[in-house]
Amino acid sequence: IPAVEISHLTKIYHSDDEGNKTALSDISLTVQPGDIYGIIGLSGAGKSTLVRCINGLEGYDSGSVKVRGREVKGLAPRDLRALRQETGMIFQHFNLMPSRTVAGNVGLPLRSRSDRRSRVPRLLDLVGLEDLADRYPSELSGGQQQRVAIARALANSPDILLSDEATSALDPTTTKSILQLLRDLHDRLGITIVLITHEMSVVRQICNKIAVIDHGTIVERGRVFDVFANP
Ligand code: ADP
Ligand code: ADP
Repeated sequence: IPAVEISHLTKIYHSDDEGNKTALSDISLTVQPGDIYGIIGLSGAGKSTLVRCINGLEGYDSGSVKVRGREVKGLAPRDLRALRQETGMIFQHFNLMPSRTVAGNVGLPLRSRSDRRSRVPRLLDLVGLEDLADRYPSELSGGQQQRVAIARALANSPDILLSDEATSALDPTTTKSILQLLRDLHDRLGITIVLITHEMSVVRQICNKIAVIDHGTIVERGRVFDVFANP
């Protein structure tokens, strides 16, 4: 079964003062297990709305979003929690808790003390931060903070990692190293990645498939090689 299967998805934001805004219109795409699927578009194109529909943060008006075969809309709270454990998420501004150490942040999604004790050191190892367990986020570089966020996103061994502009706040060299890390994690853990970005260079570097989104619709899609081969 597909990792994510979206068909004819339409999402409208309703607001009293600004009227209705169609953020996504008739979007269809399929992410297969093992894909590194890039969704690229300008600011306001609808990319964040799309990931928020995938992890259940946002409802939708029509169409279907299935994660590993299960429709996201209408999930009971407990199933929604399970969905969030199956889909790790990383963001542009890392979203770490400043009052917690690196190890504390990575351990946040883990419920039991013994899980934290056994998993946190392995997760830190996975992202190359084993020596920084006791530091605070403010003591780290941007790239190190994103590594903490990646380790935290992997805490519950998700099948899918959703990346929303995860390298947009980083310089080009750090961007490269984070993308390399994501590719390594993909290769080593077999994790499926859905990666949202406004930067062509990012999808070129790690994605195997791509959808180009503009004003809420998909205007181009395919294998990265074919899409970039178009004049
Ligand atoms: P992107 O992630 O590609 O920048 P978004 O998904 O954030 O795009 O936004 C898509 C469109 O939906 C934009 O026109 C944006 O202004 C609008 N939008 C996003 N979130 C909301 C919201 N909560 N209420 C109303 N409109 C929104
Ligand atoms: P809190 O006590 O608020 O949950 P901590 O920062 O004490 O947060 O750590 C959370 C978890 O991370 C701990 O339960 C422990 O398993 C793990 N942990 C804490 N410090 C380290 C460390 N130096 N190395 C590896 N794991 C650690």
